[in-house]
Amino acid sequence: MQQQETLQTIPILVEEPIWKVNVGSNKIHAKRTTGRFRTIKWLTASTWLLFFLGPYLRWDNRQAVLFDIDGSQFHLFGVTVYPYDLWMLSFVLIFFAMLLVLITVLVSRAFCGYFCFQTVWTDLFSWIEEHLEGPPRARVALDIAPWGMHKLAIKLTKHSIWLIISMLTGVSFAAWFTDAYQLWINYFTLQAHISAWIVLLMFTVGTYLFAGFMREQVCFWLCPYARIQSVLYDNNTLLPTYDKSRGEPRARLDRSSENQRVGCVDCDQCLAVCPTGIDIREGEQIGCITCGLCIDACNSVMDKINQPRGLIRYDSLSNQQSTKSYYRYLRPQVLVSSVMILSSIIMISYGLSHITEAELSINPKRQPMYVVMSDGKIQNTYQLRIFNKSESDNQYRVNIKGLDNMMITGDEKPILVRSGDGTNTLVYIKVSPEQLSSKISPLTFRIKNILGKSPPIEYQSVFIAP
Ligand code: SF4
Ligand code: SF4
Repeated sequence: MQQQETLQTIPILVEEPIWKVNVGSNKIHAKRTTGRFRTIKWLTASTWLLFFLGPYLRWDNRQAVLFDIDGSQFHLFGVTVYPYDLWMLSFVLIFFAMLLVLITVLVSRAFCGYFCFQTVWTDLFSWIEEHLEGPPRARVALDIAPWGMHKLAIKLTKHSIWLIISMLTGVSFAAWFTDAYQLWINYFTLQAHISAWIVLLMFTVGTYLFAGFMREQVCFWLCPYARIQSVLYDNNTLLPTYDKSRGEPRARLDRSSENQRVGCVDCDQCLAVCPTGIDIREGEQIGCITCGLCIDACNSVMDKINQPRGLIRYDSLSNQQSTKSYYRYLRPQVLVSSVMILSSIIMISYGLSHITEAELSINPKRQPMYVVMSDGKIQNTYQLRIFNKSESDNQYRVNIKGLDNMMITGDEKPILVRSGDGTNTLVYIKVSPEQLSSKISPLTFRIKNILGKSPPIEYQSVFIAP
């Protein structure tokens, strides 16, 4: 009996009955709206023009930003980064990861709604669709209409434009990794490298399918960020929110009645404009990309019926549950991610401003660790690797300090190192045992470019004796 009662008190987990996800069976023809968030969406989307135009920027007779994989170099305006300096890449990754965390903690999936390439390209493709096929009803009618010259012409034009944009996306991506102007020549003369053709094909097919056909389904089922976002939210995260207390019960506007309460007028405009087919009045849902278009739609309805805006608005759970209106910016997730973003910026700035002209590494030969020569002196052998990161061939003079009366072989002549290349040199150091005060003595290797004015580069090593 007692066991039966206990079982009855355990809440049974059931699927939320109104939780809906369009699994692709219904093609979404979202209505386009105007408003503040629509404008922000256009502005943030326009930053992607940099993706298309950036590779054509020149700096010092070279592509300003170039990921030269063949040459293992990354050119960023006047700065060249070699694999030696790739530690900065980890801070670049931390910077973007933390920026994503910060944005999500503050304003949920604003990245998805305003900046993500999938939603931006989808938005562009549907904008083209609307201009060719008309508003949603006309598009649905065209889809079900029998094929004829008119429909064929419209559909061919639309798909051709989509394909051109998809191909431009592929070319633009490839152009960040090779000379952009030469790339066009290589494509047109069919001389492009196989990897350039593969990139073009993958991006053309991917963009055409993802932005033209799969659209919100990519956000629902393929995007990993959509899955992890929920763990980043907290009660203070701003989300597009329907104000149930003001909106319900819904009722059509009755202009003949003077004293009616006006909440949601059940016009479905918020649903009609949603690019992922969500009815925000049913609560926050996994498919919501936080684009705010439903807010624009509802605000324009409220304007028309002379009611205050904000029936749908960016709001947080704690704000809704509190009698006072408040929103906490300062909370642990915000502070931690902000500190990490700031630290990454400092480290990247430090790295970029301290890139040396050359890289020196010393590899002491430790098999054997030392050699006792016939004259009783102790010899250690070192392999010097000098990598020239500058734009010109350089000559480096080697200087070694740390022990008195060292006999050095291998440092007599300056070492020539070609630009973007590395050279290995063997250096032998012989010391009399009486000059050594311990088994391990510190040594400082220093190289200086005799053809330039850059400061010397040092490397610390040790001399080992019996
Ligand atoms: S519910 Fe609103 S904010 Fe969310 S995706 Fe739809 S239109 Fe955008
Ligand atoms: S747009 Fe506003 S008024 Fe119209 S259905 Fe949506 S919430 Fe209700």
